[in-house]
Amino acid sequence: MNALFARHALLPEGWHGDVLIEWDGRGNLTKVEAHARPPIGVARADYVVPGMVNLHSHAFQRALGGLTEQAGDGPDSFWTWRDLMYRFGASITPEQLEAIATQLFSECLRHGYTALCEFHYIHRDPAGKAYARPAEMAERVVAAGQQSGIGLTMLPVLYSHSGFGAQPLKPEQGRFRSDVDSVLGIVEALAPLRGGQLEVGAAPHSLRAAGIEQIRELAASLPAGRPLHIHIAEQQGEVRQSPEFSSRRPVEYLFDAIAVDARWCLVHATHLNEAEVAQLAASGAVAGLCPTTEANLGDGLFPLSDYLAAGGRWGIGSDSHVSQSPVEELRWLEYGQRLVGQRRNIVASPARRHVGENLWQDALSGGAQASGRPVGALAPGRRADLLVLDSTHPNLEGALETDVLGRLVFCGNDNPVRDVLAGGRWVVQGGRHMAQEAIARRYREAINQLREVRA
Ligand code: ZN
Repeated sequence: MNALFARHALLPEGWHGDVLIEWDGRGNLTKVEAHARPPIGVARADYVVPGMVNLHSHAFQRALGGLTEQAGDGPDSFWTWRDLMYRFGASITPEQLEAIATQLFSECLRHGYTALCEFHYIHRDPAGKAYARPAEMAERVVAAGQQSGIGLTMLPVLYSHSGFGAQPLKPEQGRFRSDVDSVLGIVEALAPLRGGQLEVGAAPHSLRAAGIEQIRELAASLPAGRPLHIHIAEQQGEVRQSPEFSSRRPVEYLFDAIAVDARWCLVHATHLNEAEVAQLAASGAVAGLCPTTEANLGDGLFPLSDYLAAGGRWGIGSDSHVSQSPVEELRWLEYGQRLVGQRRNIVASPARRHVGENLWQDALSGGAQASGRPVGALAPGRRADLLVLDSTHPNLEGALETDVLGRLVFCGNDNPVRDVLAGGRWVVQGGRHMAQEAIARRYREAINQLREVRA
């Protein structure tokens, strides 16, 4: 029977006791009933929360984690990091990408992400030629999703220029080359694979790499309701350059030219002025915050307090994958704001006092919207994506319902995610992914091959 009985479960409106959760063979929740009686023969759990949505990922960068932490000759920045990342991406084969992505997704699942949005821009072969099947690389990431069991939103990326003003691509960007037609071609090639565990949207890379006319055309041509993501205002350099070409700041420019609405996810949006904060919040779009990557790259801090006060929606992503844990993203998000504001308990209000729970629920809601999939809540009709926490872990000993997520997000570095159900399948049990050894073996092979290429 596809069912679980939770002594305590986090539902959209808060914690409830004695919750009977049932799902069908397609991985959709069919029943979520609080104050139920435990049926005979149904598995039981103490603390159950919805699986988290990871709204921003470049899967291949998982293999680069920890390799860019040596100082160069001059001051290091996002841009010097990007050169290293390009060199690394230059030789990755389709097989290696699949192995790296499968490892990453299995790690994400073990830490509590059950859905992920892949911002996918390595389209072409190392010589810059289209593969015989132009969707080859995207299909490899989709295959990794299927092997790991994570739910995916694939976002093929529009990448035509190396900078504002339609500057030509640099040689090291040849693998990313795409135009509106080629992106729509990938969207169409993946259409037969869409289903419960896969949605397909699109992503103009940034205002640097895609022209505003192209973005408009892509948004108009993509089937209605599909998600659209874009990197924006991540770096001061971009904010400084934008007015030279558009006489506006990046977010201002996007909003003037495009009808940004709830289909959109603006990734990073780190550098916003007051008017842009209000504009983004009012649009219904999601701000895609990636705190560990933004810290690693020295991007800056998103103005979260002002954005929350304006009613803005947000979610989290692991982006470059220096971390695969939603706990770390949420903790850094809150801590960054505490450090800069010199006060505590930022994502909270008198009506919502529990910071860990607010962080989890808000990130679920924004992440689900950005994914374009019915995820992010334990409710009938949503995907059966949930986490069973290890109630025997000392950090959770004797926890009241309202303390559970505070303890999870703000205490220690152990991973108390015990079992993970994704799309109605138990993919992690007892802290182990169902294919952990085989996936890790393929990952090690891919890494060793890449090391030989780089040596
Ligand atoms: Zn990114």
